[in-house]
Amino acid sequence: MRKVIITAAVTGSRPTKEMNPAVPYTPKEIAEAAVECWRAGAAIAHIHVRDPQSGHPEFKIELFQEVKDQIQQQCDIIINLTTSGLRLSGTNVIEQRLKPAALRPDICSLDIGSLNFQDKTFMNPPEWGEIAAKKMREYGVKPEIEVFDIGHIYQAIDYIERDLFDNPPYFQLCMGTKWGIEGTPENLLFMQRKLPPNAIWSVLGVGKVQLSMITMGVVLGGHIRVGFEDNIYLKKGVLAKSNAQMVKMAVNLVNHLQCKVATTDEARDILGIRH
Ligand code: ZN
Repeated sequence: MRKVIITAAVTGSRPTKEMNPAVPYTPKEIAEAAVECWRAGAAIAHIHVRDPQSGHPEFKIELFQEVKDQIQQQCDIIINLTTSGLRLSGTNVIEQRLKPAALRPDICSLDIGSLNFQDKTFMNPPEWGEIAAKKMREYGVKPEIEVFDIGHIYQAIDYIERDLFDNPPYFQLCMGTKWGIEGTPENLLFMQRKLPPNAIWSVLGVGKVQLSMITMGVVLGGHIRVGFEDNIYLKKGVLAKSNAQMVKMAVNLVNHLQCKVATTDEARDILGIRH
């Protein structure tokens, strides 16, 4: 049976406790959510950090370090740190955004698109993608190439042709983000067909398209992502009680579709990352 990797994106930068009281803010809450997701079947934890009091998106390296340490003390889930770097300013934004990679997690997300639309519209500086890809390689971190629209795939292919990414490339198809490609079956099929043949890919759907996108992702041979970063509802009008509850839903889905959930070791093998 095919193995499907489940990623849990436990907090992101947009949802608040006002929207769903189970959204984690403090390093302890974020780490606990990741460990619970691992117990439920997630192989990868995608991590953002928050200001512990206000819950505003933060980018302090000490917070990333604390979350990473706390998770690693409790389980072997694959750690994926964001480099989205919202709310950063100054002249060395690129350097600041790459600080999580210096912690040498297994994976860092890399939005190569010239525009990132997930939370707030801002320009990726033109040199960002190349510098980030080189730094991640230097640190031995696998880039998770996040693509929000079809052009970003063409851009990633250009990077692959210029040997900026190691094989196999690992893509996250982000469907239904604001100003990004709409989360429809036609669009997911279109995106998937444009990927390089050896790509490992995962899909996420924002809000109400989450279930349809991950279902189709499993059917098409991909991997899937769930969690509060993408969606805080279990179903229409019903808030999820925890990130782990969403992972359990994803595990059931994978099993119903005659696939198996990948363990962390199996996910490392699939992605070609060190044990
Ligand atoms: Zn993220």
